[in-house]
Amino acid sequence: MKAEIISVGTELLLGEITDTNTPFIARQLAMLGIDLYYTSIVGDNCERLLDALRQAWQRSDLIITTGGLGPTQDDITREVIAESLGETIAIDPGLKQYITDFFARRGLEMPENNIKQAAIIPSATAIMNPLGTAPGWWVEKDGHIIAALPGPPGEILPMWEKEVFPRLEKRSDGIILSRTIKIWGLSEAKVDELAAPFLSVPNPTVATYAKTDGIHLRITAKAPDKRTAGKMLAERESDRRAVLGDYIWGVDEETLENVVGQSLVSQGLTLAVAESFTGGLLAYTLVMAPESSSFFKGGIIITADDIKTAWGLKPELSSGRVGAETAAKMASLVRARLEADIGIGIELYTEPDGGTNIGRVFVAIDTGQGGQSLVQNYSGRPRQLVRRAVQHALFDLRNLLTSR
Ligand code: ATP
Ligand code: MG
Repeated sequence: MKAEIISVGTELLLGEITDTNTPFIARQLAMLGIDLYYTSIVGDNCERLLDALRQAWQRSDLIITTGGLGPTQDDITREVIAESLGETIAIDPGLKQYITDFFARRGLEMPENNIKQAAIIPSATAIMNPLGTAPGWWVEKDGHIIAALPGPPGEILPMWEKEVFPRLEKRSDGIILSRTIKIWGLSEAKVDELAAPFLSVPNPTVATYAKTDGIHLRITAKAPDKRTAGKMLAERESDRRAVLGDYIWGVDEETLENVVGQSLVSQGLTLAVAESFTGGLLAYTLVMAPESSSFFKGGIIITADDIKTAWGLKPELSSGRVGAETAAKMASLVRARLEADIGIGIELYTEPDGGTNIGRVFVAIDTGQGGQSLVQNYSGRPRQLVRRAVQHALFDLRNLLTSR
């Protein structure tokens, strides 16, 4: 099956929003073993969308569109699909009732315009949209499939999982599953070396990627069904775990802040942070973790020299020793002031000329039973350095928590 994705929306062409639907669908198609040959973006323009659909019909078996299913004048996807197939579009009473109920349940009056979302053509069935008013369309005709989905990514997700994916899975002759193992503390080259025996094996494949939160080792297995693919993944994962052991901090969607947050919650500990030139990114990252209010007490950002001096901190990080000492003091200070079990101090030192793009990250963790202070050199542009510094601090904390 040859697939093609068309994103509809003038906002996309103007660069006002970034197309995230295409990459999402592309990854899903890859997982299904369906070949994706073309993707395109078309504005809210009938003629050009008609052109795009006709061309797609010529060269692809599966066409997935996103966007343009809304109730307004510029939402044209339904009408244009109908025209491209030469079918008559008409209001479906069942769908009309569904949309009317959607508004009634929320105690809202339905605008007249929304009725157009109940329109359908004979060769289409509706794909229910639990989070919005716009149902999608599943069209089957002359050996082709068109799946028309709304624009908002949050609406697409449940529609995809409940309706589109299962229908496509039935048609694909194999399933592809992936698992990402997340590693910190080893270079990409080292992870590559440790994975070497498997890098050239065709199935499951193993590949390494350098990311802000460390090195990702991605295992991908292809099999006729989900169970077999899952088993292949699990086997390769367990033999890689035997080699990479302690360096693995998580898998798939896990983030360091989630991992750290879970350990803090399960150990009943609270955390406070003091930062300077990471500008609160560590605090922000922790706030975004689930259940953060039960373990994260807060943070302080100190950047001005006079405040640092007043708080007994050295304003200039003239040497590595001073940096480490400053981070340690910040950790103790914030731990005491915010009455937390654990304090983290994080300092970042970059060369004043900014030309070298090398930064030193000083992380100190104070648990009340003596501090722990670590220094690491990183290179990269300022934003990268800040992100690395934050991930570094989280990883150090994660190690401390797992060794307790
Ligand atoms: P609505 O009923 O919300 O109007 P729609 O199906 O008509 O839905 P659009 O009007 O095309 O969809 O887009 C609505 C919103 O969905 C956009 O403003 C944008 O925030 C988001 N969106 C649309 N297309 C994409 C895309 N390809 N990638 C990411 N977000 C998108
Ligand atoms: Mg719209």
